[in-house]
Amino acid sequence: MHELAVTQRILEIALRHADGASRITKLNLIVGDLTGILSESVQFYWDIITRETRAEGSTLCVSRVPTRLRCGDCGHEFAPDGRTFDCPNCGGRRVIIMTGREFRLESIEVQ
Ligand SMILES: [Zn+2]
Repeated sequence: MHELAVTQRILEIALRHADGASRITKLNLIVGDLTGILSESVQFYWDIITRETRAEGSTLCVSRVPTRLRCGDCGHEFAPDGRTFDCPNCGGRRVIIMTGREFRLESIEVQ
């Protein structure tokens, strides 16, 4: 459900930026792991909602950005282990999210 709304938004943006082009051939999407957005789901919805639009048959390239955190106590940088965001170095819980929340349409290619 979440991915459907997100995918519709991508299509809106792409079509707006493809003004004057007859076809959108490729899209480059940046998605952080913390967004919880699954690339497979986006691709699934993409193939459906682009039917009979200028983006039909286009390639959707999703670049994933892994989650990186920094401890607010000791400054240690780490990737979460999937269970906790606590600092593995000092056990601190004041973490700063450095990457992983990205979600943007980086570029589109048109014909
Ligand atoms: Zn720490």
